[in-house]
This record gives sequence, C-alpha cells and structure tokens, in this order.
Amino acid sequence: MTTIGHLINGVVIEDHARTQDVYNPSTGQVSKQVALASKDTVEQAIAAAAAAFPAWRNTPPLKRARVMFRFKELLEQNAEKITALIGEEHGKISHDAMGELQRGIENVEYACGVPELLKGEHSRNVGPDVDSWSEFQPLGVVAGITPFNFPAMVPLWMFPMAIACGNCFVLKPSERNPTSALFIAQLLHEAGLPEGVLNVVNGDKEAVDTLLEDKRVQAVSFVGSTPIAEYIYKTASANGKRCQALGGAKNHAIIMPDADMDNAVNHLLGAAFGSSGERCMALSVAVAVGQEAADTLVAKMQQAMQPLKVGAYSDSSNDFGPVITKAHQQKVIGYIDSAEQQGATIVVDGRQPNVAGYENGFFVGGTLIDNVTPDMTSYQEEIFGPVLQVVRVNSMQEAMQLINDHEYGNGTCIFTRDGEAARYFSDNIQVGMVGINVPLPVPVAYHSFGGWKRSLFGDLSAYGPDSVRFYTRRKTITQRWPSASVREGAQFAFPS
Ligand code: NAD
Repeated sequence: MTTIGHLINGVVIEDHARTQDVYNPSTGQVSKQVALASKDTVEQAIAAAAAAFPAWRNTPPLKRARVMFRFKELLEQNAEKITALIGEEHGKISHDAMGELQRGIENVEYACGVPELLKGEHSRNVGPDVDSWSEFQPLGVVAGITPFNFPAMVPLWMFPMAIACGNCFVLKPSERNPTSALFIAQLLHEAGLPEGVLNVVNGDKEAVDTLLEDKRVQAVSFVGSTPIAEYIYKTASANGKRCQALGGAKNHAIIMPDADMDNAVNHLLGAAFGSSGERCMALSVAVAVGQEAADTLVAKMQQAMQPLKVGAYSDSSNDFGPVITKAHQQKVIGYIDSAEQQGATIVVDGRQPNVAGYENGFFVGGTLIDNVTPDMTSYQEEIFGPVLQVVRVNSMQEAMQLINDHEYGNGTCIFTRDGEAARYFSDNIQVGMVGINVPLPVPVAYHSFGGWKRSLFGDLSAYGPDSVRFYTRRKTITQRWPSASVREGAQFAFPS
C-alpha cells in the first residue's frame, strides 16, 4: 500500500516510523497510508526553508511571479488528476472538486501580480531634502496548517502569495487527505521553484507543535476548527510569531417574508448540502421571519429535497458525496438525534441513506430540521454535515439578534426584495462575510476572506490584499544626503 511522504528540498522523503490510514470515504476502505512526521523531520523542513530564504528573498519579484505564471498553467493542465485525488480522499463530487481547484488557481493568479502588490509607499520631501518610503519585506520561514475540507484550495490560499512575497514555506496539510497538496507542491517545483522554498510535511500534533515552537518560523497561517484555531493562535503568539487562525462557523440565512421563495430554496439546497455541508461557508441555519414564510419555506424545501442524490464522488450525477470519516458520520447523526430529543421536528431524515454498491461509505443524506431553538446543542455547535435547521422568528430584528449572539461570525446571507432591509442588515450584522441574495458570499481572490468573533483569531484575513500584509513586514526608511550647504548643528527638539 502506498505511503504518502514529505517534500523537503524538492525531494519526497520517507519517514515511516509513524503512519495513519487514509480512507476513500465513498467506499469506506483504507486506500493509503500517510507518514506522520517526527519533530526531527519537521526541523529538517524548517532548515531547508531557512537555507533557501536569502537567495529567494533577493530574487526579483518579477522572476518570482514568472514561476507563479508557469505554476498556474501546470495546475490547469493537471486539473483532472488533482480533482480525482480530491474526490478519492475527500469524497466531493468531481465538478465540485473542479470548482475548489478553480478557486485555488484564482489565488495563484492574484499572486502573479506581486510586483505591483509590493511596490510600497513613497513620499518625497517629508522635510527639507528628506524623502521617506515604506517597503514590504518578506518575513523568512512561514508555516501553513490546513484542514481536510478544501485539501487543495486552502493550501493555495496560503503558499503562493507567501512565496511570491519572498518567503519560504512549510505546509502541513490535513493528514486525512494529504495527496493533492503534495502533488500540487511538486508541480510548483516543476514550474521552476528553487529547492527548499516550499516544503511539505505530513503529520499530526507533533508536526504542528514543532512548527509552533521553532524560533526560525516567523508566522503561522491556520485554517481549521475553532478549538484548534484558538490553541494555534495562543501558542504561536506566546512564541512571538505572527498568526492568523481561521476557525469554524454557523452560517445563518435570513428568509424575509418578501423573499423570492423559489430562488431562496434553490440557493439553500446548494449552500446547505453541497460538499455534504463540509464547507466553512455552508448555510446551516435558515431563519424564517413570520409563520407564513416559515411554513412556505419548509414545505418547498421538503419537496425540493426529494430528488437530492448522495453517493460516490466518481458519479457526477450525484449532488454530494460522503462525509470525511466514519467518526464524523456518527457525530453528524448524533446531532440530528439530539435535535429530535430536544424537541425539534425532523422533516427530512438523512440518517439512513441507501447508497447501492457503497454500503460501507460514510454517507449522510440531506436532512431538514424544523422548530429548532437556540438552546439546542445542534444549534449551538457546528455540525459540518448535510443538515439544514430552520429557526422560526417574528421579526428581522429577532433574526439579527440570533446571529449576533452566536459565537461564530463567518458568513451570513439575507434573502429579500427590500433594499433598505438588506442595507440595514449588511451594515449592522456582526459577521465578516455577508451575502444579499447570495448564499455563499465567499470573497473573490482579490478581496480577503475572514470571519469575525470566534471564526477568526488574529488581525488579518486570508488571501487577497490582507495576505500581502500578513506575509510581509513593513520597513519605513527616511533618508537625507547632507551637503555642506544644508549641514545643521545638533537638534534636541522635534522641528516645529
Ligand atoms: P481540524 O481543526 O481538526 O484540523 C485542522 C488542522 O489542524 C489539520 O492540519 C490537523 O492536523 C491540525 N490539528 C488537529 N488537531 C490538532 C491538535 N490537537 N494540535 C495541533 N494541530 C491539530 O479541522 P478539520 O476537521 O480538518 O476541518 C474542518 C474545520 O475547519 C471546520 O470547523 C471548518 O469550519 C473549519 N474551516 C474553516 C475555514 C475558514 O476559513 N474559517 C475554512 C475551512 C474549514
């Protein structure tokens, strides 16, 4: 059976002392092993990155950008292979995997503009014959730790821009589906990246803790669940590192009584059940304003969900695939059980999906739960499965209060025909990414991605303009060239 190794100094190395099973979630079978890096292996990767930094830092940004242009072409040429790897290890349907890859490629396209993005700021004559400018210098070795749910896209949020800015990178992908990130890293070497600039270590807590503690690592980007994000942020900060740690979510959609209900239902279907709800921007709560809107929404959703098809990643006629592991399948089902026990109504029940030929796959069918209340466990916690819960409220204010009171603040959306209500909503809601009749308001690559509250620890969001600031350090230089005519005596006060 294949064991997935690490990529250090451009070479795949084997360190198989500890390994973990990698599953094909559609079949429920173990398909490979992944090596779990020891502290020593991670230190080798950091050393490789540190050694590559002086030359890469001084490589002109235009030449760094040219590597990214070639990388983008290679990603496109290898799209089928990458999406197959994503499907096999994650379970998402091939066209959804293609969408993930496309979103990742858009981050590479943005990184191709790095000479423009690094131009800095310049002021002539800030004082007599004095000029001042700010430049943005790379940090050195930076690390990225990524989740299972976008095994190709989230790494592509991080390392292309970090590297284009002149840093060297150590990536620690999710150990549950590591192969696509490793393959993509090899493509970047094929595009001309010097050895050591990008290294990949597979592993678990031992690898992550080594990255968090090593003094040579200057900054850490993390995406994953909130408890781990908080741990990463606190530990990295305590060790003097810059850190951005993106966490979990509970994304609400408000359905106003004046909404185009058929449009809202179509959008909710894709946003709640696409990728089995394993998206940090999945809409998992529909807040219906008024009993009539709630009744209509639930009736129409129930009907629209009848033809939903859950099944193996390889059949593109399926709407969504399995969840990531058997344990996660049980966890999602546990949340549905708890909602039922706590008094909610299970309208469409996905707890026992029948997927012919894939009886051991980790499937959960699309589930709709009505009459959910804020005190229920299934409302408070992130389910991360194909489950849409309906909360009934009497006013838009009540709906907004619910969202503002929730610990997460990643994404949200309002369905309405009322521009004034939409404007009030987007202005006042305590959430980082807001949609108006747009269910998944994921920012494009030239904006930045980040939630509020416990969905993001740190000051800067992921990718886009914030990532240029995250992966660089400002240096401000003030210069004067004194000549005999302007030479002054000592000054002991600021000039006024
Ligand atoms: P996770 O937190 O379990 O794992 C993320 C990474 O952290 C992995 O690389 C893993 O190896 C590492 N890790 C796990 N436990 C650790 C520990 N105890 N110590 C150190 N490192 C550890 O997350 P996941 O299950 O892979 O991903 C799903 C979660 O990610 C969901 O909560 C989802 O909302 C979130 N997510 C958030 C965003 C966002 O942008 N906010 C995007 C994608 C996913």
